[in-house]
Amino acid sequence: MRSCSKKIGIMGGTFNPIHYGHLMIAEDARCFCNLDEVIFIPSGNSYMKEADDILSGELRFHMVKLAISSNEYFICSDIEIKRTGNSYTYETLEELRKHYPEAELYFILGADNLFTIEKWKCSERIFKECSLIAASRGEVDFDSLKKQADSLKKNYQANVILLPERKMDISSTEIRECILNNQSVRYMMPEEVYDYIFERKLYSN
Ligand code: ATP
Ligand code: MG
Repeated sequence: MRSCSKKIGIMGGTFNPIHYGHLMIAEDARCFCNLDEVIFIPSGNSYMKEADDILSGELRFHMVKLAISSNEYFICSDIEIKRTGNSYTYETLEELRKHYPEAELYFILGADNLFTIEKWKCSERIFKECSLIAASRGEVDFDSLKKQADSLKKNYQANVILLPERKMDISSTEIRECILNNQSVRYMMPEEVYDYIFERKLYSN
């Protein structure tokens, strides 16, 4: 029987700053899984990362808005940046669930995170609330990614969907380092985001 419930992708991240790697996996996930929309959710203060090299939630949120404005299927939520303290993915998903009780939720993530998600706070509640859509990234080969997906399915009954392999070798860390070292980051992100970063001299100390 065909389900008529809305299919919603959730693209969480620090987005410090947003770049084409994020946009590409969100669009690949949307097309591959026929998602009705993708919600970008910039993190609040992450407990996983050093807080001092992370720009304020407002600035990261603004850059996400600039980056997604031309895609009618993409929206952005400030649900995590409005929260004070750590933001946990399971809490965000459970909050979204209240707004979309009937929807099928899909959490979109890169390969690096598919290998750490078991350690995230209350990860079993993430697996219960949504399916995962994982994209290849970096050094991880597709076989290892598949093995990890199978292990999450076996150990937690997680529903994991792997996107067809495509790699875009961009990270926010590299972008921040390049800016600090006066190296070009043009074409790693939409022009609107690039202009915003340089007009405001973000990441250059
Ligand atoms: P940082 O280097 O600061 O960690 P990042 O580039 O990893 O930044 P995040 O905001 O940490 O960006 O990532 C958000 C999500 O997007 C994560 O699930 C991450 O795995 C995924 N992601 C980011 N860049 C890519 C990429 N180039 N290819 C595939 N997935 C990516
Ligand atoms: Mg990252």
